Amino acid sequence: MFKELLLHWDKTSNHRTMPWKGIKDPYKIWISEIILQQTRVEQGTIYYHKLIEKYPSVFDLANADEQELFSIWQGLGYYSRCRNLHETAKSIVSNFNGIFPNKHEVIITLKGIGDYTAAAIASFAYNLPFAVVDGNVVRVLSRIFMINENYHTNKGKKYFLEFSNNLLDETQPAKYNQAIMDFGATICKPQNPLCNDCPFVDMCKSFEFNKIGEFPIKKDKIIHKKRHFHFFVIEDKQHIYITLRTEKDIWQTLHTFYLVESDSEIISFNKKEFNLRPSSEIAPQIFNQTLSHQKITGYFYFFPSNLFSTTFLKKLQKINKKSISQYAFPRIIISFFEKNNYL
Ligand code: SF4
Repeated sequence: MFKELLLHWDKTSNHRTMPWKGIKDPYKIWISEIILQQTRVEQGTIYYHKLIEKYPSVFDLANADEQELFSIWQGLGYYSRCRNLHETAKSIVSNFNGIFPNKHEVIITLKGIGDYTAAAIASFAYNLPFAVVDGNVVRVLSRIFMINENYHTNKGKKYFLEFSNNLLDETQPAKYNQAIMDFGATICKPQNPLCNDCPFVDMCKSFEFNKIGEFPIKKDKIIHKKRHFHFFVIEDKQHIYITLRTEKDIWQTLHTFYLVESDSEIISFNKKEFNLRPSSEIAPQIFNQTLSHQKITGYFYFFPSNLFSTTFLKKLQKINKKSISQYAFPRIIISFFEKNNYL
């Protein structure tokens, strides 16, 4: 009953369009699904076109210059997705001769590909019977069947995966998967669902009991760790000094200014490594950025380069201000650049 209603709705009333919808090329499906993991369709579409145009095949992506790839990705955030894309492209080229694997159990072993993306690629590209479970699917199912499971727990994930696979139309998994996600995005929306236009209204439990707002079960409030980053904007006429972050932490392989992390807004400038003694009047510009589990406060201090020793400056990269756009920076630094007319 559920799948019949869904597929009928899809055939008669689903007008949602997206550039990757209906395509069978696993490479393009993979790119689109990775972009959409944490990005809205409208914004993601722009990046999808940019990436596909620049890297039309998995070989092009595998051979991409990392900094160039990162600068195209810039603005999407969650850079680990971009890093994984690059690594996985290289692995597909070296381990599978550039041919995207066509078995679910192999697809799911690729870096950056979890249950959702593996099911999406397997079903959309190869019509294999694996149900996708994303936020849209969880919302639709939990409202219709009043499912009292929190998807953000391991138990909840397992529950929704099994539940979804039991409902799946195995004869046309690609159509079914796309339909349920489209239905969640356009009818059973997070706010103000269009229950009057809904084909499930007679079977929807949360509608019947007037409990739509209680489903899906909310995830526990995320606790954000607070971090204080002090950025040194070291200038030398038309040049600035930047550095590549290599440590295993946020923003790995992105560029930043030289930075010192402290427990608060206070920083000591007379550390041995840079041996700087600025006057006490230095007032930083302050910018904020919230990541999935961290809140970053960035304090930006302007310094002329002659305050630093040559040994210290040698550890940094001196670039012309006009070439800033060729490097990938975290959002907080882009905001600083924009506010100060560097870009
Ligand atoms: S009746 Fe409303 S809440 Fe229930 S599935 Fe339809 S749109 Fe969603």
